[in-house]
Amino acid sequence: MATIATNLQLVNGRINHACAQVGRSSASVTLLAASKTFPAVTVREAFSAGQRCFGENYVQEAVDKMAELADLRDQITWHLIGPLQSNKTRVVAETFDWVHTIDRIKIAQRLSEQRPADLPPLQVCLQVNISGESSKSGVAPQDVLCLAQAVTQLPRLTLRGLMALPAPSDEPEAQRGALRDMRIAFNHLRSEGIPLDTLSMGMSADLEEAIKQGSTLVRVGTALFGKR
Ligand SMILES: *Cc1c(COP(=O)(O)O)cnc(C)c1O
Repeated sequence: MATIATNLQLVNGRINHACAQVGRSSASVTLLAASKTFPAVTVREAFSAGQRCFGENYVQEAVDKMAELADLRDQITWHLIGPLQSNKTRVVAETFDWVHTIDRIKIAQRLSEQRPADLPPLQVCLQVNISGESSKSGVAPQDVLCLAQAVTQLPRLTLRGLMALPAPSDEPEAQRGALRDMRIAFNHLRSEGIPLDTLSMGMSADLEEAIKQGSTLVRVGTALFGKR
């Protein structure tokens, strides 16, 4: 079985290759290891292989893992990439470095109010419902600018960018279209004066295409850790 160190090399190689193909520097793409369902010992193994950014989906699971990895706290950047309910905002504000799944102002306000004064501002992305699925979380594309303007007013949050979780599709053209629409939304917000630097999109199966469409952060689980 492939080790995590080997998988990490492979994934970083894919990122470098995709960047080279479109003339981007590999330093312009961050690899976020999506470690949901994998235990703390697995995160520690990835850490030992050089990985520093980890994404978690379930708040309680993440908090338990962080406790087991408390000795690495200053060296790991923890990102919440799963949905966030308002009854969990306090613990998230107290423990995470980033949240990618802001899709309404109420959650953002709570996070800002609850972010402890001794921590740096919480770094946030707005999740965009780019495929227009009625069941999916994410702000509708036509409402992103308004939400972004409101979030930039919150004192204890720093708005960094947009995040997408496009609907799985067998049609590569539909997938590409969603990634392209995200790039357009991202550039539109920047042209409106919102200082974004993060476009969080791309996973194990589509990270190359996401990088070609301007992703600055790919969230990779299966290709690093194996099947969940
Ligand atoms: C699990 C997960 C990923 C990683 O998906 P893989 O296909 O396993 O690489 C990325 N983003 C989010 C939001 C996830 O929940």
